Amino acid sequence: MSNVITGAAVVGGVCGQPIRHSMSPLIHNAWIAAAGLDAAYVPFAPTVDRFETFVNGLRGGAVRGINVTIPFKERALAIADTASDLARMAGAANLLLFDADGGVHAENTDGPGLLGAIAAQAPGYDVTAAPVVVLGAGGAARGAIAALLLAGAPQVSVVNRTVARAKDLADTFGEKVLARGEDALPALLPEAGLVINATSLGLGGGDGPVADLALTPRDAVVLDMVYKPLRTEFLRRAEAAGRATVDGLEMLLRQAIPTFEAIYGQPPSPEVDVRGLALKLLGEA
Ligand code: NAP
Repeated sequence: MSNVITGAAVVGGVCGQPIRHSMSPLIHNAWIAAAGLDAAYVPFAPTVDRFETFVNGLRGGAVRGINVTIPFKERALAIADTASDLARMAGAANLLLFDADGGVHAENTDGPGLLGAIAAQAPGYDVTAAPVVVLGAGGAARGAIAALLLAGAPQVSVVNRTVARAKDLADTFGEKVLARGEDALPALLPEAGLVINATSLGLGGGDGPVADLALTPRDAVVLDMVYKPLRTEFLRRAEAAGRATVDGLEMLLRQAIPTFEAIYGQPPSPEVDVRGLALKLLGEA
C-alpha cells in the first residue's frame, strides 16, 4: 500500500544533530505506507543551542511526537512537563509527545527496545536469573539499566573506562547497581547472565571492548548496541565462544514499535520487513 498526505496528516519525526544518517524515517515511513495512513515521519536537525526553542515551537500538537537522539536525550527529559517512570529513571528521553493543550510528555523506549531485542534473538534469557554486566556509562547504558532493573535484574555492574562516570551513574540507581573498573571484568564475567556493550567502541569497525567473553557462563547472552557494522567484532567473539548474541539493529527496530504506536495510535504491521530495509540502508544486504 502507499499513503497520501493531506492537510489532516498526522506528523511525527526524529530530532538530532546530526540526523542525516538516522534510520528512523525509513522505518516509520515504511510502516505508514503499509498501513495506508494519512501521516508522515520527518527528520529535524535543530542547532545544538536551539533545541529548547525548537521543542517549545512544537507545543500545541501540530507535530504529534518526535524521537530524540544524540545529543539531546537528557535535555528532552528536562524540557518535558511530565515523564514516564522509565524516562525519569533513565535520566533521558528518546520520545517527546505533544498534546493539544501545549503539554510535552517524555518517554524512553530504548530500554523496552533492548528487552524486546533480547526476547526476539535470545528467547530463553531470564533477566531475573543472574547479574548483568554493562560496558559503558553513557546515556545508552543508563536507559538499559533502568529497563533491566524494572524487569527484575538482581544486580547490574557498570564497567567503564572512566570509573568516576560509572560511580555517578551507580549512585543515581541505588544498591543494585555497582560501579567497576575494567580490571574487575575477570571476576564479573563468570557470574554474568547478560553482557552488554553500551560503549561506542566497535562503531565503524575495530575491536570493541576488551572483555574476554569466553569467561562467561555457556548460557550467557551478549548484546552489542553498536549496529554499524551489524556483526561487530564483539559479537563475533561472543559467537566464537558459543554464546547467544543480540544485535544493536534489533534493539533499534524494537524501540521503534512503541514509538510508532504512541505517535500514530496503532501498532506497526509485522508484515513489513523493516529489518531487511534497514540492512539494505546499512549496506549489509
Ligand atoms: P555516550 O554517552 O557518548 O557514551 C559513550 C561510552 O563509550 C562511555 O561510557 C565512554 O567511556 C565509552 N567509550 C568511548 N570511547 C571509548 C574508548 N576508546 N575506550 C573505552 N570506552 C570508551 O554514548 P551513548 O549515547 O551512551 O551511546 C553508546 C553507543 O550505543 C553508541 O555507539 C550508540 O550509537 C549506541 N546506541 C545504540 C542504540 C540502539 O538502538 N542500538 C541506542 C542507543 C545508543 P568514558 O565515559 O570513559 O568516556
